[in-house]
Amino acid sequence: MNEQAQKARAIVTGYHGRPLRIMEVCGTHTHEIFRQGIRSLLPEAITLISGPGCPVCVTPTAYIDEALWLALEQHVTICTFGDLVRVPGTSENLADARSKGAKVQVVYTQLDAEAYAAEHPDEQVTFLSVGFETTTPGACLAVKRAAAAGLTNFSLLMANKTMPAAYLAMADSCDAYLYPGHVCAIAGTSVPESLVKKGISGVVTGFTASELLTALATIITKAQSGHPFFANCYPRVVRPEGSPAAQKLVASLMQPCDCEWRGLGVIPASGMELRPEYATYDARQKFRIPPQQGRPNPACRCGDILRGACTPPDCPLFGKVCTPETPVGACMVSHEGACSAWFQYGGKF
Ligand code: SF4
Repeated sequence: MNEQAQKARAIVTGYHGRPLRIMEVCGTHTHEIFRQGIRSLLPEAITLISGPGCPVCVTPTAYIDEALWLALEQHVTICTFGDLVRVPGTSENLADARSKGAKVQVVYTQLDAEAYAAEHPDEQVTFLSVGFETTTPGACLAVKRAAAAGLTNFSLLMANKTMPAAYLAMADSCDAYLYPGHVCAIAGTSVPESLVKKGISGVVTGFTASELLTALATIITKAQSGHPFFANCYPRVVRPEGSPAAQKLVASLMQPCDCEWRGLGVIPASGMELRPEYATYDARQKFRIPPQQGRPNPACRCGDILRGACTPPDCPLFGKVCTPETPVGACMVSHEGACSAWFQYGGKF
């Protein structure tokens, strides 16, 4: 551990001031804080809350139902990142649909899905497009490439989300955010900086033990002033302007829209949709997907966990009925999910 990290660790472990609630917005932060043993170092005065930063977790049940309808009723080939295959819909998941004969292909990038569509012109191919600022440029690139190639069998089922509105929606749940490093690398720091004027504090951080401890120590130190603050503790990756090229690409193909988040409901202007000129690549419009029920298992508390209203061990199914092998909710399926992290690494109960 370098000298800076040792100093940060001393500040964190030695803190006995007023209680501070710190929300990790990013699911990878949640996992890394557990995995690197940082959670076990925290004094009683620090409470870490897992926020809505896992893209699979915040995708609502109705979205899975839409994908199931496409796969089973329209015989569309679904291309998706692996985690979504096991996320429960209202009555089944995509793995169940695959066992009934539906075509469900796991891909590693959006461009893999576009390439699959190009190689299979006899199939209609829909990519399950979830994620935040980090993954949306890839979806745009896939649509741009499909348009250039004149593909008519490729579309996106969109649930892409953006963070700024969620920061505002969750502001009362914590005293400071650990802002997501990857999102800020794309979007820049102007939003979290501007939130200071609204009384919202936080620091952006990376993923090493040194970076995470430095960020926590910075929050502890700056919170003593009693004034809202922002700091960029990940300057080796995050620049104030973010990635102008990625921002320009997204703005040319997509526009903001209202969007439903699991546990948080519909947050105005928190999602992205394709611009009208690219509507032919929008699976909802292309296939006229009817409204879906979207009923999660009533015993699952993913919604409460994503709001910071409880922790995974508060769920009666946690570790008993619901495990990574037998997930009942999205937060246990995703490798970025809070329930998965708590199950895998334990923690400060
Ligand atoms: S433990 Fe399982 S059932 Fe409980 S909240 Fe987490 S994902 Fe849902």
